[in-house]
Amino acid sequence: MYCIQTQQLSYRFGADMVLDSLELEVPLGSICGFLGANGAGKTTTLRLLLGLLKRQSGAIRLFGACLEDDRIGILRRVGAMIESPSFYDHLTAAENLRLLQIVHRCPRQRIDEALELVGLAHTGRKRTAHFSLGMKQRLGIAVALLHEPELLILDEPTNGLDPNGIVEIRKLLQRLNRERGLTILVSSHLLAEIEKLATHVCILDRGRLVFQGPMQVLQERQRQARGIMLRTGDNTSAARLLVAEGIDHHHHDGALRLPALEPGATAALNRTLVAAGVDVHEIALLRNDLEHIFMGMVEGRE
Ligand code: ATP
Repeated sequence: MYCIQTQQLSYRFGADMVLDSLELEVPLGSICGFLGANGAGKTTTLRLLLGLLKRQSGAIRLFGACLEDDRIGILRRVGAMIESPSFYDHLTAAENLRLLQIVHRCPRQRIDEALELVGLAHTGRKRTAHFSLGMKQRLGIAVALLHEPELLILDEPTNGLDPNGIVEIRKLLQRLNRERGLTILVSSHLLAEIEKLATHVCILDRGRLVFQGPMQVLQERQRQARGIMLRTGDNTSAARLLVAEGIDHHHHDGALRLPALEPGATAALNRTLVAAGVDVHEIALLRNDLEHIFMGMVEGRE
């Protein structure tokens, strides 16, 4: 079952096609990383999902229902933080939440619960003007959690945070997902962060979805070798033997680069080199790193 599903979702700003036939699928109960370079269209997508931009074409379904059929009822089940949150600076965290608690008409105890959840229960009389960026981000998440949503949509929640702040937000999101079963869609342009956080990933490139699926699928691609690096005492002779064996290669950084070979073929090559008197210093498998896979997707090489 999908918590979020879009069909042929496209969007234009004037003549610019910003989203092109997006078929987004976010499984219920997942933490889905929404990855893309600056300007890829992440914020535009999130705004459309939240009804903050008017849909131009295609369909949006949340919790299996068409957003336009019951916008208010559906969005009541969603919490969101889009771009940097803003608060009344002269008020405390609890006072800021009190205003929203009245708007949402949720029980007053939710204020303390939400503050507790994001680790801001101790902030007492401190005005939000004096909050660090990390505290403000956490308060933004508390705002999004106030009415106990089932789906949390966050736009770059770790933007501008230091490494400690990033870890804190990651742990918080993982705990909310694990303990409360919250589905979380979180956008980021940082692959390394999404890799540590998400169970699923959607990759957007210039308005097009270039990958979506479980994080494990990307990690599996990472495990596959993309080639072999061969370092010998005599690369010229080694290259000649490779030609004779019909193995593609090129010179790179004082070594030879070959396509990935079966283990038996690698061993046979090693024997051939040694038998021909070529000293083999190193035979190493080259793995795909996730950055490489990601760049390949957004540059259309995968
Ligand atoms: P970032 O990581 O930089 O926030 P993003 O992936 O969220 O990027 P969007 O903010 O959705 O990307 O922007 C997608 C494209 O739409 C960009 O080319 C942007 O310039 C353009 N765009 C966004 N908002 C508007 C607007 N109000 N009017 C015109 N063009 C816009």
